[in-house]
Amino acid sequence: MDNDLLIDVKNLRVSFHTDEGFITPVDGVNYQVRRGKTLGIVGESGSGKSVSTRALTKLLPKNAVIEPTSQILFYQNGAAQPLNITPLSPNSKEIRAIRGGQVGMIFQEPMASFSPVYTVGNQIIEAVRQHRHAAASPLAATATIGSQIDESIRAGNKKMSKLEARDVAVDMLERVGIGNAGLRVNQYPHELSGGMRQRAMIAVALSTHPSVLIADEPTTALDVTIQAQILELMRELQAELGMAIIFITHDMGVIAQIADEVAVMYLGAIVERGPTRELIEDARHPYTRGLLAAIPSLDRLDTRLSSVPGDIPSPLERPAGCLFHTRCPHRIDGTCERFAPERTEVVPNHFVRCHLYR
Ligand code: SF4
Repeated sequence: MDNDLLIDVKNLRVSFHTDEGFITPVDGVNYQVRRGKTLGIVGESGSGKSVSTRALTKLLPKNAVIEPTSQILFYQNGAAQPLNITPLSPNSKEIRAIRGGQVGMIFQEPMASFSPVYTVGNQIIEAVRQHRHAAASPLAATATIGSQIDESIRAGNKKMSKLEARDVAVDMLERVGIGNAGLRVNQYPHELSGGMRQRAMIAVALSTHPSVLIADEPTTALDVTIQAQILELMRELQAELGMAIIFITHDMGVIAQIADEVAVMYLGAIVERGPTRELIEDARHPYTRGLLAAIPSLDRLDTRLSSVPGDIPSPLERPAGCLFHTRCPHRIDGTCERFAPERTEVVPNHFVRCHLYR
């Protein structure tokens, strides 16, 4: 049994009903999230990387449907009985307990996740009192996640006092490197600098001791120095707390710095997946190679990714055959535009979907 397995996503398919038609921004995605490891998900805008992870907390637009054949399995300490959240309502007690409790989230724009009318401290206090209970620490529990959630809900009357939660808030702000935490805790988000707000958002997300942190382009808007500090901070906190991170970005350079495993997404599908070093040193899929070619040198991993030539097609016009054939410099005429490539394991744990590797 894989005791480090926390989330197993199988055949995830998410569809949206739009005025222009029916689109499937995520189609048949598989990935696993493991304790203490970072999964990097990389791809251009429109690749489905954010939708495929927001499905884990059901934070999707109202017109989205997770197809019932999908499985999103939450494990705790490798328990034999995972909780499949696919059929659960976004407002169910289980999903509310997962969101912000088991799974923390940070985004590119911290102001989007902070309320402007509450102090930073109050927002941490609220998260801690809502999700942290003596009987339900996700990092310490040995029960299945389902029973842990039930325990957490039963333990609703054991909320931390406001004073205790305030101590947690000050401690978290200190741990993410915010000086004068006792003062900052009383400030409003707009009173902090951009880098400090990003750190404060990490503090909010980590204050509930999530076992999984979803980081959706968290450093994209920051300058290179602050970005490096935030990545370093995330690595430190991961080592300390043992949490898993799903790091979403369009920037292969950032992925190279932080991820243990990389999934490359294109038009709703994972086209290549493998251990980071193996994938960077021996990328097989023409799209991955295009992304990597945009980095001038592996000594300069802070360089932003330029786009692969051509545009990603609209999800309303998904190409037949290989999804990438409209842009691929290695297209095999007569095959690639007609037949979808199967997933092939080129070396252990390194998978690619491309007819060149049948
Ligand atoms: Fe290119 Fe064909 Fe491979 Fe698709 S299957 S990436 S079109 S060579």
